[in-house]
Amino acid sequence: MILNKICDLRENPKPLEMANLPDPVPRDNEIIIKVSACGVCHTELDEIEGRTPPPRFPIVLGHEVVGRVEEMGCKANKFRVGDRVGIGWIHSVCGGCGFCLGGNENLCENFKATGRDANGGYAEYASVSEDFAFKIPALFSDSEAAPLLCAGAIGYRSLRLTDIEDGQNLGLTGFGASAHLVIKMTRQKYPKSKVFVFARSEGERSFAKELGAVWAGDTEKESPEKLDCIIDTTPVWKPVIEALKNLKNGGRLVINAIRKEGVDKKYLLKLDYPTHLWLEKEIKSVANVARRDISEFLELAAEIPLIPEVQEFELEEANRALVELQDRKIRGEKVLRIDL
Ligand SMILES: [Zn+2]
Ligand SMILES: [Zn+2]
Repeated sequence: MILNKICDLRENPKPLEMANLPDPVPRDNEIIIKVSACGVCHTELDEIEGRTPPPRFPIVLGHEVVGRVEEMGCKANKFRVGDRVGIGWIHSVCGGCGFCLGGNENLCENFKATGRDANGGYAEYASVSEDFAFKIPALFSDSEAAPLLCAGAIGYRSLRLTDIEDGQNLGLTGFGASAHLVIKMTRQKYPKSKVFVFARSEGERSFAKELGAVWAGDTEKESPEKLDCIIDTTPVWKPVIEALKNLKNGGRLVINAIRKEGVDKKYLLKLDYPTHLWLEKEIKSVANVARRDISEFLELAAEIPLIPEVQEFELEEANRALVELQDRKIRGEKVLRIDL
């Protein structure tokens, strides 16, 4: 399924077209994957509508790719033909800059994304350097594994960036899909840590407690204990400002959001330096994922175990899946099944 140009999904509900492309041929260190499942992510909507536009067309979207190694380049030796592997958003990087050498290759100036800068998984075959493919733990079906390659791995990175140690207090602002994942990961990886949740609705707060939060309160509330770190999973500013007062000296708040909405931008004027930032409190954002995040998260997800609810579509139904995602018709993570 290829995208030929940027368009408005409301005006054109069928932006992707079925097409026959030549089978990819592996370069030296590449593998060819026979794709069996590919998750449908919000980022595809951003690509189609031009908020994160592909640099060339046509392009095959999809960056939650699961399949089996079909063919290997002459220098590829990490996997064997038939191995089940996945590809996430990170498709390639320069490999030589400070970010790449330091393990933060997600920040590389030459970062190339799967399904935007290189063809992705809305297809029967995908190619990738073997260094950017990940072994999928046996526990998951192909469809279940696909969504783990994106949102969960980013949640994992945001948890990692807090620098939390077991026993330290973690705060979460907002309690949607991303926070659900983070609380489950925290309970598994940092069992002595207490989790405090700030959420607007009573439903979210009681669900947070069901999932193991020791306390849940409204956005402006003061938590009963000071927090070593906080992860903000909301698209707005109020929760960030309100949460900062709960941080311990030297604490860190990590914003896990690709972009913030402008609706409550004036809330930032409430930032009070002594209350919110003085004494070495910091705010940090998280930008997609490095390879380490995907591989460590897949292992952790298998340990927990964290098994996504999925709704499957045939590859030909990709347009319908995208429109339903935009209309928020969500019954589990949407996954395209290829070659059923
Ligand atoms: Zn994604
Ligand atoms: Zn680099």
